Amino acid sequence: MKLTKKYLYPLIILIVFEAVAVTLWLTKDNLFYLFNFSYIGLSISLGMVLFIREYKYARRIVQLLVGLYVLVYLGLICRENMQIEGFWYYLFTGVFEAATIHYAVAKIFGPLLFGRGWCGYACWTAMVLDFLPYTVPQKPRKKIGWIRYIMFAASLIFVASLFLAHVGNIEQIMIRAFIIGNIAYYGLGIALAILFKDNRAFCKYICPVTVFLKPMSYYARIRIQCDKDKCINCGKCKRVCPMDVDVTDNSRKRKNGTECILCMECVKNCPKKAL
Ligand code: SF4
Ligand code: SF4
Ligand code: SF4
Repeated sequence: MKLTKKYLYPLIILIVFEAVAVTLWLTKDNLFYLFNFSYIGLSISLGMVLFIREYKYARRIVQLLVGLYVLVYLGLICRENMQIEGFWYYLFTGVFEAATIHYAVAKIFGPLLFGRGWCGYACWTAMVLDFLPYTVPQKPRKKIGWIRYIMFAASLIFVASLFLAHVGNIEQIMIRAFIIGNIAYYGLGIALAILFKDNRAFCKYICPVTVFLKPMSYYARIRIQCDKDKCINCGKCKRVCPMDVDVTDNSRKRKNGTECILCMECVKNCPKKAL
């Protein structure tokens, strides 16, 4: 009974992904979906189990397992644009493919359950940014988050104009856009991390996907809560948080609450096990 409780969250995640895997496999009669979602669910659950067993690099292992799979296998080998442009493209063409499913599960409806778990455990951009030395922001947060909306609108306008202008071979353009877009994201992400001394500066100010992620994760079922009876207000949890979350405030409106990537650094560092 105690063991089941300990591994409840990895089990829930595994069941959710397996349910998606089997449903899509049977409804779309395509074995790929069974492989795809089983692999991702198993990778995430494995990481959560490793974390529970206090393995230091648990999260990084999941990031590499899922991030490389999406970037290299789905993106470069299967030649699907997995970035937001790909989402718009498949949405406009009415094709229910990897990019649309990926967005629906990981970035639009999934956050209602697991918040921004995608950002902590699976994103292939953050997978690289998290290798940089500024794991904890060393400068105050800037008020330039509005850039994400420009990026969001630009991605939509870019894909919509291709359709409106009846450009031929959009699929080929999407593949090139995926390669160029990723190189640009990595370059910009690394430059911003160095400039702001913050690995996650790109996530905080630029990433267009947060336009979906932030409002949906506001209602996340899985979120870090503080046990006020145990907390001694030492502030260590906030000092180690890469996303500047006011984690001791349990309200949904807590400062930067929709930025939490469930990295568990606060939990690991709390001296009173209050989180
Ligand atoms: S905010 Fe964007 S770049 Fe950062 S981890 Fe999330 S999806 Fe990836
Ligand atoms: S680290 Fe733990 S004890 Fe300290 S403020 Fe945070 S929750 Fe409270
Ligand atoms: S340190 Fe805690 S509050 Fe901050 S992002 Fe990680 S899990 Fe969320």
